[in-house]
Amino acid sequence: MSDTLKRWGPYTNMKQLADAGPKMIARADGIYVYDNRGRQYIDGHGGLWLANVGYGRREIIDAIAQQAEALAWFPSFGGFANEPSLRLADKLVELLAPDGMAHVMFSNDGSEAVETALKIARQYWKIKGRANKHKFITRRFAYHGVTMGALSVQGVTENRMEFEPLLPGVVHVSAPYPHHCSMHPDSPICTLACARAVEEAILTQGAETVAAVIAEPIQAAGGVIIPPPDYLRQVREICRRYDVLFIADEVVTGFGRLGSWFGARHYGIQPDLMTMAKGITSGYVPLGATAVSDAVFEAFYDMAVSGPEFRHGNTYSGHPIAAAAALANIAILEREALPDHARAMGPVLQSALKNVQTRHPQWVVDANAEGLLGRLELRDPGGRLASGQIGAKIAQYMYDLGVIVRPIGDVVTFSPPLTIAEPEIQHMVAAAEEALGMVE
Ligand code: PLP
Repeated sequence: MSDTLKRWGPYTNMKQLADAGPKMIARADGIYVYDNRGRQYIDGHGGLWLANVGYGRREIIDAIAQQAEALAWFPSFGGFANEPSLRLADKLVELLAPDGMAHVMFSNDGSEAVETALKIARQYWKIKGRANKHKFITRRFAYHGVTMGALSVQGVTENRMEFEPLLPGVVHVSAPYPHHCSMHPDSPICTLACARAVEEAILTQGAETVAAVIAEPIQAAGGVIIPPPDYLRQVREICRRYDVLFIADEVVTGFGRLGSWFGARHYGIQPDLMTMAKGITSGYVPLGATAVSDAVFEAFYDMAVSGPEFRHGNTYSGHPIAAAAALANIAILEREALPDHARAMGPVLQSALKNVQTRHPQWVVDANAEGLLGRLELRDPGGRLASGQIGAKIAQYMYDLGVIVRPIGDVVTFSPPLTIAEPEIQHMVAAAEEALGMVE
């Protein structure tokens, strides 16, 4: 068996991988990655939605090395703590103050951050004496992770099917998907029926049974689904009206991606809980975090005198090396004002993508971007390429042209490092257009 098959890849068709061979990436610098033959690629996807400050940052590398020497690890259980994780919590709470977050619990990745949020929501209502509030409402095409709880609130049906039955009491509603509106597909004007679908679900289930609504501000892995402007504010308001917690999953949208520090802020809302990972360290070391409002934390704090604590925590919660990497990463994001840069570059990416649509109206169904999160949705007007295969084809041609992007069905998605400059954005999108020319 070849070495390729010994490593069972995540979300990987191992037969296809064995046939094609893996694309070996050996090193990276700035917005570029290099394969093992030294060929350079623009990382148009930030690895996997996350290399926000770019690769090879000396100060993050040094922070990791220094922390590994001083204290590589020690638990945060049993009354122990370490300085970098306390400093990071402090920094995050400062950053998240406008979003109404006041406390943070650490884990290792996005799935664990979501799992933590779901469990906090469940126990919160038990503490409040409303144990029947246990259900979660989520949206179609939502991606929240792979662990059984996080998977249960996923709306990507293919990801869930093989593992059912999953968590009971999870209700899926329509996604706010402007180009695939399932509520009023024939209406030229958006009535935000998808926001009212959340209310309808709460009423159908009974508000007394619903713990929380979970939502990514932009549904990234669902195909960069950018909601209508007022959608999130309306959903947030509905949650408040029916005493349902609102969990913002900021694993992709956090740390500047949309041109604001967090997606919730970008859309003018304050959630009750917030999940983070990916951009929190720009991928230098794995780290997840779940932030909560004072009101949520205080329920647990008050109960701690008499009742059980929050019986949840990962061995590596508050890992000092991950915390040191996150602190150095956040220092770069702040010093270089990268969220502002993403806001300035957003219109550049958006108009470059829309120009592709103007020039290839038969092929491009939709082109859009919010900050440095972009989408190019395609179809083959001649019907040679089946639906679901076009994105992969274009992404392969773009790879051959030296640009890495992520295909999701027929959508080519863009999520470059936030350090990307205007000419590099033009170059990245030009590769998409050239690739289109190769299939036309
Ligand atoms: N939440 C969102 C919005 C994500 O996009 C992802 C992963 O892409 C996750 C959660 C899960 O994160 P991880 O893969 O780090 O477990």
